[in-house]
Amino acid sequence: MSTYSAPLDDIAFALRHIASLDELAQLPAWADIGLDHTEDLLAEAGRLAAEVIAPTNQIGDQTGSLLDDNGDVITPEGFRQAYGQLIGGGWTGVSADPEHGGAGFPLVVDVAIQEMVTSANMAFSLCPMLSQSAVGPIGAHGSDEQKHRWLPRLISGTWTGTMLLTEPQAGSDVGALICRAEPQADGTYRLWGQKIFITWGEHDMAENIVHCVLARTPGAPVGTRGISLFIVPKFLVGDEGVAGERNAIRCIGLEHKVGIHASPTCVMELDGAVGELVGEEHQGMPQMFTMMNKARLLVGLEGLAIAERAYQQAAAFAAERRQGRRLGTEPGNQAPIVQHPDVRRMLLDMRARTEAMRGLLYLNAAAADQGARHPDPEQRQQSQQRAELLTPVSKAWCTDQGVEVASLGIQVHGGMGFIEETGAAQHWRDSRIAPIYEGTNGIQAIDLVARKLPMADGAPLAALLEEMTGLDKSLDQAVGAIAEAARWLGEHPGDDALAGATPFLQMLGLTAGGWVMARAWATAERIQAVEPDQADFWRAKQISSRFYLDQILPTAPALLPAVTSGAAALG
Ligand SMILES: Cc1cc2nc3c(=O)[nH]c(=O)nc-3n(C[C@H](O)[C@H](O)[C@H](O)COP(=O)(O)OP(=O)(O)OC[C@H]3O[C@@H](n4cnc5c(N)ncnc54)[C@H](O)[C@@H]3O)c2cc1C
Repeated sequence: MSTYSAPLDDIAFALRHIASLDELAQLPAWADIGLDHTEDLLAEAGRLAAEVIAPTNQIGDQTGSLLDDNGDVITPEGFRQAYGQLIGGGWTGVSADPEHGGAGFPLVVDVAIQEMVTSANMAFSLCPMLSQSAVGPIGAHGSDEQKHRWLPRLISGTWTGTMLLTEPQAGSDVGALICRAEPQADGTYRLWGQKIFITWGEHDMAENIVHCVLARTPGAPVGTRGISLFIVPKFLVGDEGVAGERNAIRCIGLEHKVGIHASPTCVMELDGAVGELVGEEHQGMPQMFTMMNKARLLVGLEGLAIAERAYQQAAAFAAERRQGRRLGTEPGNQAPIVQHPDVRRMLLDMRARTEAMRGLLYLNAAAADQGARHPDPEQRQQSQQRAELLTPVSKAWCTDQGVEVASLGIQVHGGMGFIEETGAAQHWRDSRIAPIYEGTNGIQAIDLVARKLPMADGAPLAALLEEMTGLDKSLDQAVGAIAEAARWLGEHPGDDALAGATPFLQMLGLTAGGWVMARAWATAERIQAVEPDQADFWRAKQISSRFYLDQILPTAPALLPAVTSGAAALG
């Protein structure tokens, strides 16, 4: 049975030494919130994740969520109780606006907490994650009345939220959606259509479900310019704020999936469902963009969270499983496989990639925090651009790494890794969706090359590369290769640049990970001397960061030919 323990020391290290939480604590926005007590908060969340949520992971995978004949979705054993404790502790509103009942912490602290919840049970974590996604556009673009009606309960978790974008003909191409919304005399709209692949579209853990639906009004322009955003609740809510009559939106099917079995992936039918327009008609796409960066960061976090859990499980297995002999193994005995250099290499590879991901994601979140709340407008703009540049990398690189690390976790188990009972395969199966949803990783790479590199005449990338320079020799080589690749991409717009987009994103992800690990190495060198009682922790940090810099990072410059081969090389 796979267990999970919250990596509190590693999380505290990344928050303090990589994401510079102390700098955020000094900003007026968070001066009074008590960020000094963040470690207590994390310990509390870690306990909930390890003791309450993690035990639901394997049973959730085995039974999955089920659709009954009435169209109700029944979640696996233990889910309702775990959700009750999650919202009972206020964990769904950590970084939400205090005006609507949130605790107002920086996003980076919320991200650290969500890492643990996601490691504990990724399928479960998607439910509160989707609620946060729904809070974004309503908070940014809803009327005061809508904010008052929907936000407090979405933030407290009494109600949950969803995102209804995808239709059979409209996946990456959201502009192709045809769901129809017709205005009514009373100012509401009625919606008709079918949405597919809707995460937590129906379930039994909350009193109401607030669906954010993209649809077209009569005569709307074709493509993304004609899309509007509507709030369509499962139960209609009157002026007194109580969930009442059932609305005409139903789950008519659940998908059978490779992984995240406990997360109900619903086919939703809207048959004249009552909806409220958010903001103005035809503003649906720009409105969605306001929550996109956060949603993408949180999906990137799934790569990290799964990697951490897979690593913990592989390390525990390698200490127990005995095969072969090592020098000093007593006659007739076998050595634990963790003593074999190749197994040590696999475990260290898993750990190093996991730590690099954690640093990158936390850095990205802290940049978003600075970009949102720094008092100096210039600093705010630069941080915002840094966050925008890093977001597609965080989403795509970390989710790819999550799959790779979970696969290595199976390899460490040998044959038992391929047998479901150990749980190693579940991590790999669960991880596989993250490179696909919330904009496929291919779409992230296009976003990086076509939108984020040219942003502000390339200044955000130039500033990032400058900050990365001079810390480590292999990092300098990678930075040089990125500068060359970016120059080439700028000189070859169109299909040539698009053909090199994914290898470029991989290069930047590996290098950003190298930047994190170079900083980790330098910090460990400095602090080891003054904190001898923590010597094991700092020595482990030195080993993992050195391994990353010497054995993983050198693959980044090797991608330069792939970036610069052009579209002709693809036939
Ligand atoms: C388990 C699960 C949960 C989901 N949850 C939700 C949800 O809650 N709400 C929601 O609305 N949707 C959800 N989705 C849908 C998800 O976001 C889409 O599957 C995703 O956007 C990809 O769309 P698609 O499946 O149609 O693939 P396609 O768009 O058909 O893509 C197929 C391939 O073509 C590539 N491709 C497509 N267009 C281009 C292009 N222009 N340039 C280069 N490459 C391209 C893609 O990268 C991909 O590799 C979910 C999906 C799954 C499987």
